[in-house]
Amino acid sequence: MRSRSTGFTLIEIALVVAIVGLLLGIAMPSILRARAASQSKTCIQNLWQIEQAKEEYVMDAHLHSGSPVTADDIVPTYLTSLPACPAGGAYKINAADSVPTCSLGGAHSLSGTGAGSDWSESVSDGSHRRRQSEHWEFDRR
Ligand SMILES: [Zn+2]
Repeated sequence: MRSRSTGFTLIEIALVVAIVGLLLGIAMPSILRARAASQSKTCIQNLWQIEQAKEEYVMDAHLHSGSPVTADDIVPTYLTSLPACPAGGAYKINAADSVPTCSLGGAHSLSGTGAGSDWSESVSDGSHRRRQSEHWEFDRR
């Protein structure tokens, strides 16, 4: 009894390659989307960290709104080190009354519409949070 074939035929191999390619084609966009979403989420968390350190520094230094704040002002006193954007964007600390930004913008911003973060809206102008911290100070007294 001889086996019908000793290996895969060209058509079988082509079929497998086509199926693998098709599956990759289906999965790739969602893989890339998930990766971009997690990158922008991390980026927003970084910006949030910078913003918190910045607010502490601005309060401690009694800076007026619009006063320039640099990375040297908040690192390492208020932030151990300046985090890096996972997608390669560069962070701008910005002035005392504006939130830090990522050079990639879009979903990489605290005020951006992307990433579906629930706190991005309340941070967008900073006033909401400042009002909250005033409440906390009031409660402590
Ligand atoms: Zn970023």
